[in-house]
Amino acid sequence: MPTLKPRLLANIIRIIEAEEHVAKSYKRLKKAMEQARRHKKIANRLKKRCFRLGNPKVSTKIYQSGTIKNENHGLIKLPVEVKKIIFKALPTAADRACLGLACKDQAAVYDQLKTEKNKKDYAQHVPKRATDVHRLQMLIRLKPDMPAKYRICYLCLQFIDTTHPDNAGLWGGSENRVSGGKTTKTAMIEGPRCPLCVAAKKLEAAKYKDTYKKYLALVDKVSFK
Ligand SMILES: [Zn+2]
Repeated sequence: MPTLKPRLLANIIRIIEAEEHVAKSYKRLKKAMEQARRHKKIANRLKKRCFRLGNPKVSTKIYQSGTIKNENHGLIKLPVEVKKIIFKALPTAADRACLGLACKDQAAVYDQLKTEKNKKDYAQHVPKRATDVHRLQMLIRLKPDMPAKYRICYLCLQFIDTTHPDNAGLWGGSENRVSGGKTTKTAMIEGPRCPLCVAAKKLEAAKYKDTYKKYLALVDKVSFK
């Protein structure tokens, strides 16, 4: 059996060690990045930075461009006053938004409704501003068309990809408490909450601690751009 020269043997050992080292370093860095990304998401929940509610609006560029193809449809031919009455008679803001997105003509009426003055003495159902409840209504409306892996978190008001490693863990809250499509403020407290929101709530319980502030400050230093 041929024997390797000591120098060559040392070189082979060095190469094997280097390969192991790079594999280990990559694994450690990947894990650290995953942890940091998850904590960033948790901290965003603590700082209420998950999303910003914009005012409900359909861009004029969309509904003023091109032609209306279904202009002979009975709903399109109705006088604009009647169309407004239909919008206001709908039970939820999500219903109004869905009708507004149905076609260019409805989008234009939806947008015109916003110019109406709000009177405090009666509930005027015009799309003035979006609230958390409106967002939840919309998420529940969209749910049947979403892939099965997405679950609604009633606290951070987002579709959560249940297969993504960042979102691993146990869900809190109760699906039963919000059965039948409940979209109230209470539903947001009692409904299912994602593992990241569960983790955020747990941290928030100790928000009086200095370490809590340090945690948030440290997460702020992390950027994934
Ligand atoms: Zn959540």
